[in-house]
Amino acid sequence: MSGLAAGIRLAQFGRNVLILERHNAPGGLNSFYALAGRKFDVGLHAVTNYVPQGVRTGPLVKICRQLRIGRDELDLCPQHGSRVAFPGEDLRFNNDFALLESEVARVFPRSIDAFRTLVSRIREYDDTHLDESRAPSARTILETALPDRRLREMLLCPLMYYGSARPGDMDFDQFVTLFKAVFLEGFARPFEGVRRIIRVLLQRYREAGGERRMKCGVRSLRVAGGRVSELELDDGRLITADHVISSIGRLETLRLCADRPSAAEDVEAGPLSFAESIAVLDVPPASLGCSETIVFFNDSPSFAYGSPEHDLIDTRSGVICVPNNYAYGDDQDLDEGFFRVTALASYAGWTGLPEERYQAEKRRCYARMQDSAVRFLPGVACEELQAHTRTTDMFTPRTIERFTGHISGAVYGAPDKVRDGRTHLDNLYLCGTDQGFLGIVGAMLSGISMANLHIIRKEG
Ligand SMILES: Cc1cc2nc3c(=O)[nH]c(=O)nc-3n(C[C@H](O)[C@H](O)[C@H](O)COP(=O)(O)OP(=O)(O)OC[C@H]3O[C@@H](n4cnc5c(N)ncnc54)[C@H](O)[C@@H]3O)c2cc1C
Repeated sequence: MSGLAAGIRLAQFGRNVLILERHNAPGGLNSFYALAGRKFDVGLHAVTNYVPQGVRTGPLVKICRQLRIGRDELDLCPQHGSRVAFPGEDLRFNNDFALLESEVARVFPRSIDAFRTLVSRIREYDDTHLDESRAPSARTILETALPDRRLREMLLCPLMYYGSARPGDMDFDQFVTLFKAVFLEGFARPFEGVRRIIRVLLQRYREAGGERRMKCGVRSLRVAGGRVSELELDDGRLITADHVISSIGRLETLRLCADRPSAAEDVEAGPLSFAESIAVLDVPPASLGCSETIVFFNDSPSFAYGSPEHDLIDTRSGVICVPNNYAYGDDQDLDEGFFRVTALASYAGWTGLPEERYQAEKRRCYARMQDSAVRFLPGVACEELQAHTRTTDMFTPRTIERFTGHISGAVYGAPDKVRDGRTHLDNLYLCGTDQGFLGIVGAMLSGISMANLHIIRKEG
């Protein structure tokens, strides 16, 4: 998504742009696939940063303006409503921030003033800056700003799940970005899912004259005079470019550089990855009692966010996503029901398994994730969910690494971000997750920002 956004922006400014993609499908971490004739979205639970038509500010509006995309083209349909579920306490939220505010006042009446003060600070905070200074820890700031520990944990749980690359914490910049994206703005989804967004991006890229080569990976970046001199492709061909923008991740990019930069030794691989189970149902999930869009759950008062040390998955917490529960136009519903559960997963654990055991563990963990999730859905019975399940799928950190090339299956990249996208080479820049903007909207914003900063503004 970040590469496509950068490509569109540059092509619209008259540059000759070539996008090289190793996979046969576009979209990267947010792509799609078909299995037994059924279409699945990878990633996409929700497009964040939703604002209704007519609102003229915010990241989504900026993306549409800069990429010359009409809001209608994305067909964004708002969520029904979501929830953060902790033992004995729930905070409901939707795309109207007033709901979350009233929930905080109801569940944490003594903290509502502190919460409102924090929200004012978040609204005024510039989280899109490109300075390199390291942002403070969100946990440290929240400890002073919100005295109630349970409230802090309940706010951090969804925001960490949707973008923190740092175990147990997140940078305050990213906390602000995600607070705005998830709570102040909100969730939406096109009826067709991620395909719709990718189609619009590809169309805009083509119209602007951009070129794209699929199944065409970059094997190495040759270096001369402090610049990328040539790109060596997987099939051995060489190509040259004035500028190279890489969306594959920081460590992944440094490892391609033929000059073997010392930074490649210092950059930590992203330590966090996820597994996801998908159940395809023969009834609308709402008929089984699953009427919310997304539920972030955690079964103890504090939230542990990290790679599981002694297990393949951590079922203490997770995210339930029901793509049927968006307000699609004309009361449409998807052809089938979908019930997805995401959990923290151990990359080391999953990659160490021989194939047969891997398949068996996928089945076992699938069942554990479903059981764990159902605990937070009052009125939903696991047996009933199973009885209506037509087919299932499950992906793991191993799947993510295999199809996107992200080392360790790290969905949110390395913990330390490079906000200005610079590398040790003059004409090589980073965009995407490791630049620091998050999710689908963040990735597109990142591509636009890096194209603007390093090429369009510099050269006009
Ligand atoms: C399970 C899951 C759920 C998610 N849910 C959401 C969500 O609900 N909402 C949201 O906003 N975000 C979500 N995300 C995050 C979102 O998908 C990512 O933040 C975003 O797509 C990252 O885009 P990117 O451009 O930075 O990188 P990527 O998507 O990783 O793009 C990098 C591309 O480079 C290609 N590549 C790698 N190596 C090479 C090479 N050597 N040569 C050529 N090509 C190469 C890869 O194939 C890939 O296409 C989710 C991600 C996952 C995995």
